[in-house]
Amino acid sequence: THFGFETVAEALKEQKVGAVFSSVASSYDTMNDLMSLGIHRLWKDHFVRNLNPGRNPLTSPPNADQGWNILDIAGGTGDIAFRMLDHASTINNDAHTRVTVADINADMLAEGRKRALQSPYARTPRLKFVEANAENLDMISDASIDLYTVAFGIRNFTHKDAAIREAYRVLKPGGVFACLEFSKVNNALFDAVYKRWSFSAIPLIGQLVASDRDSYQYLVESIERFPSQTEFRDMIREAGFLVPGQGWEDLTGGIAAIHKGVKP
Ligand code: SAM
Repeated sequence: THFGFETVAEALKEQKVGAVFSSVASSYDTMNDLMSLGIHRLWKDHFVRNLNPGRNPLTSPPNADQGWNILDIAGGTGDIAFRMLDHASTINNDAHTRVTVADINADMLAEGRKRALQSPYARTPRLKFVEANAENLDMISDASIDLYTVAFGIRNFTHKDAAIREAYRVLKPGGVFACLEFSKVNNALFDAVYKRWSFSAIPLIGQLVASDRDSYQYLVESIERFPSQTEFRDMIREAGFLVPGQGWEDLTGGIAAIHKGVKP
């Protein structure tokens, strides 16, 4: 804008998001469990199972590429990445699929690296962590990624459309964009119960467990502001993706949703 107000506001938003995630990094897993009553684990398991990452060497053509190149954006503490690698290895017998976890926040990445040390993927070429802003992935080449995932990340981005365009750029033709994010509850009664839980219990749990009411208040508000299922589906289409079926799958009555797009 003329006086750069938008830029200042955007920089402040980015700073605020940064502070929130630095502050929650060490208590992140416990808080997720408490706030979602453990359900976020089931959503993440379903997300990964449904994407079925990996290339089974027994059923792939002999000259097929080995494994998938997966980019997990806003990958934070590695929750999605570890599941992807476990699935590829144990379900698809694929020991080549690799995941790059990209996140804007060094503290979240540090937690991820710490967790990786307890995994079979530590110090292997199958798992990499990079500090990056989803809106500008210069370090990732065009058409190099088979699967782009973003779980509970995109609602924090300042320019969601720019991030979706970057996803499109880095994906190979036929590559898949998959997003797991909080969404809109589709039943009025259930929505009333859910809103009560999120607006009163979540900031309170944040205060009691992590001594940080403000960060959790921010998380609840960011969920409220995020576009509806259809609006978000349309944003994915506008970036050029083909959207299969209606474009999304609701989880737990729409508390969360999985959106997918395929690069033609
Ligand atoms: N994907 C993980 C999960 O499902 O548990 C972490 C989700 S956490 C709620 C959101 C993450 O988004 C944080 O780690 C935060 O640092 C990251 N993030 C926020 N804005 C970002 C951006 N512009 N680019 C990349 N990561 C970003």
